[in-house]
Amino acid sequence: MTESTKMEKLISLCKRRGFIFQSGEKYGGLQGFWDFGPLGVELKNNIKKAWWKKFVQERDDVVGLDSTIITNPTVWEKSGHVEGFHDELVECKKCHYRFKKDEIKDITCPDCEGDLTEARQFNTMLKTFIGPVEDSASAAYLRPETAQNIFVNFDTVRQAMRLKLPFGIAQIGKAFRNEITPGNFIFRSREFEQMEMEFFINPKDDDKWFKQWLEARFQWYQDLGIKKENLHQYEQKKDELAHYAKYAVDIEYDFPFGKKELEGIHNRTDYDLKAHGLEYRDEESKQKYIPYVIETSAGVDRAALAFLLEAYEEVKGGRTTTTESNKEQEVVLRLHKDLAPYKVAVLPLSKKDEVSKPAKELFCKLQKHWMVTYDEVASIGRRYRRQDEIGTPYCVTYDFDSNEDNKVTVRDRDTMKQERVEIKELVNYLSNLL
Ligand code: ATP
Repeated sequence: MTESTKMEKLISLCKRRGFIFQSGEKYGGLQGFWDFGPLGVELKNNIKKAWWKKFVQERDDVVGLDSTIITNPTVWEKSGHVEGFHDELVECKKCHYRFKKDEIKDITCPDCEGDLTEARQFNTMLKTFIGPVEDSASAAYLRPETAQNIFVNFDTVRQAMRLKLPFGIAQIGKAFRNEITPGNFIFRSREFEQMEMEFFINPKDDDKWFKQWLEARFQWYQDLGIKKENLHQYEQKKDELAHYAKYAVDIEYDFPFGKKELEGIHNRTDYDLKAHGLEYRDEESKQKYIPYVIETSAGVDRAALAFLLEAYEEVKGGRTTTTESNKEQEVVLRLHKDLAPYKVAVLPLSKKDEVSKPAKELFCKLQKHWMVTYDEVASIGRRYRRQDEIGTPYCVTYDFDSNEDNKVTVRDRDTMKQERVEIKELVNYLSNLL
């Protein structure tokens, strides 16, 4: 399977099985906008939950925030985004297609080889208007990063939570960028989600904290199933740094379309707090200073794409030796159990009441604990494969014997091992695995 066909197959699976759809597809779609279907929203929620748990819940030095997408436009003037949040755009003089300059290797158009214009600055913040009058006084921006409202709230959060340095503020939410060339499925969109954490520190400790956060974030992807050899760290060169950054390392993933950024770890120095006129007073030394900020900035959508690609596996001829399945190619989505949309599928062996009724009851019981699905259509082998394809870690089969021995069969997605488990022990049994 070539890398480009892998991408095509994954996109097709995502549509067919309800992970990701093109937004507004009925009317031809809209470039750079994607809807997450019933399984996609579960995957995304699980990614966000895993991040929040690790970097807010399990820490005593990070708190959360949920700020607005639109805020006072002065925020973006002070932050330097109105002035500096630019991409360089070149246009083909022949076909008039526009490209991001840093994506063009040649001096001519990659599509038609026409001559290109000089690069011009293009601000990628999306604009809107507040209130009934559409004039410059009512103009506002959709946030291009979630970080800025964290900085603006630095002091209110610090006071409310009685925090001392070092501490962090974390936020997950939508961000918008008028990307010149959205593409590669959900890798580069115009509306996407970020998981950002701004860690405020004494400037003298910046190298130490940068290293710690980079390591923690690099490890997080591995803990959720991405192989270390598919992850990389790229130190940005001076001319690649964003307008606020002194030093930055990208965490990259080997996407089928190349080694690309998943997340940025930035030393934003005192740039943002200074811009908003904020400072910190150390109670012990009575000294005032402007803290430095180490930022971890990850994309939920990019992470989702990386987790899906990493998990996608095709098995020629099938994994099982039953006659039906070994004719076909099987797909297994080996998602980490914390990320899998459904944790368990309940499959009655037959549609007959004597089996399907208690199976349905079991399904309702399990639903109180996890996202569980129920499927009684088609042969059991086919139903296992349907679950494998969407990454469900465990299938629970209720058969005719279950009514006699009060046991069900639990099948493991990865090993395909099956085990008989007492129904009354099932929740405990699955809790130990999930
Ligand atoms: P790129 O160089 O790919 O445009 P960036 O350096 O502009 O990314 P940052 O500003 O550092 O990205 O944003 C932090 C993270 O937000 C990125 O690592 C990525 O995961 C996510 N992100 C940024 N832009 C997009 C986008 N257009 N679509 C999806 N995710 C994005």
